[in-house]
Amino acid sequence: MDNIYITPDHELLRDQIARFIAREVEPFADKWEEQGMVPREVLRSMGRAGLLGLMYEGEYGGGEADALTNLVFAEALSQSTYAGFIITVLVHTDMASPHLHHAGNLQQKQKYMPRVTAGELITAVGITEPGAGSDVAGIRTTARRDGDDWVLNGTKMFITNGVHADLYFIAAKTGTARHDMSMFIVEKGTPGFSVGRALKKTGWLSSDTAELVLDNVRVPAGNLLGEEGKGFYSVMKNFQTERIALAAMAVGHCTQAIRLTLDHVRQRQAFGGTLWDKQTIRHRIAMLDAKTRAARQFMYHCAWSVTQGRDIVQEVSMLKALTGELVNEVVQTCQQFHGGMGFIRETAIERLWRDARVLGIGGGATEVMLEEVAKRY
Ligand SMILES: Cc1cc2nc3c(=O)[nH]c(=O)nc-3n(C[C@H](O)[C@H](O)[C@H](O)COP(=O)(O)OP(=O)(O)OC[C@H]3O[C@@H](n4cnc5c(N)ncnc54)[C@H](O)[C@@H]3O)c2cc1C
Repeated sequence: MDNIYITPDHELLRDQIARFIAREVEPFADKWEEQGMVPREVLRSMGRAGLLGLMYEGEYGGGEADALTNLVFAEALSQSTYAGFIITVLVHTDMASPHLHHAGNLQQKQKYMPRVTAGELITAVGITEPGAGSDVAGIRTTARRDGDDWVLNGTKMFITNGVHADLYFIAAKTGTARHDMSMFIVEKGTPGFSVGRALKKTGWLSSDTAELVLDNVRVPAGNLLGEEGKGFYSVMKNFQTERIALAAMAVGHCTQAIRLTLDHVRQRQAFGGTLWDKQTIRHRIAMLDAKTRAARQFMYHCAWSVTQGRDIVQEVSMLKALTGELVNEVVQTCQQFHGGMGFIRETAIERLWRDARVLGIGGGATEVMLEEVAKRY
């Protein structure tokens, strides 16, 4: 056991995921990076293995697990060096479907959740817009009540799983007050709902990211998710799960980058010895590992605090800021120690370097996270 929070059951889960990655991800993931998507069958296969709803109710195919088990899942996935694959899964499990889990009513859960946990319905969450990202309350998409329906209008930006999702959780203004926002379930194929541009990115190449257009999209009143006007608070609540998952990605990348770099510097010859013989390189790697291990313990402590029902917005915001910056420091330094090879496409370290960049931006940029920390002192 490598920390006090890890149980033998967690280790079994970690081994199961490691086997899944070795068998069903690593041999194919370069092709997915070229194709710009992870095939749907991969999520179905994870669904069949019971991996897509660990925290959800058993009656919907979930695992009834707690936040620590969920973190073990996210960290285990992040032992892959293909962040495009990891984020495709984590958006489904930890960023989009939690909206249904936390705010969905009985009918909504019965209708959708079994297929979400089975990986038959892929989910996405649409909050960000061209004009509002960090400032969630600044969104302009509107939902207007019209008889038994809601009519949605607006544009969403940078939506992960945007192209290939079947079910979207969309934030829209339902009143004029700044925080008067609600969440809606929108199924793919609803008239007026279209996927705009698939966006070309620096990294996360096998994750599809798209613009969504809502042009007089009419959904039944029953598609309102949670309480009318309370969507902002719902979004903020879900950010806690999402940010721990993103921290797990960051810590996973750090761990993998250090592992790759140790292998590299121990065999790479320069100036009559290996790079490992150079004290400056050894010490810098040791310090990166120290920071990574400290961040990892803090991350597990945050997940444990969630299991205790504590309000840890400040700690989770710290964790997101810390790990989003640390991963860039670690991966960039590790890339440096790979020399020219670190700049060559298709090496894992080069991919990690590209993939790491967004972890200080998406799901709460560092500056915004630090503000969340500071205002709670
Ligand atoms: C690959 C990718 C996938 C994404 N997936 C999704 C998704 O699935 N669903 C979704 O809804 N969104 C998604 N996003 C959006 C993401 O969450 C936003 O990009 C992020 O929240 C930042 O918003 P922004 O891009 O509008 O930047 P802005 O809000 O314009 O911020 C720009 C910069 O200004 C800084 N800044 C902003 N406000 C302050 C302040 N008060 N004080 C100091 N500095 C500040 C920010 O920290 C940032 O550095 C994704 C983004 C990317 C790149």
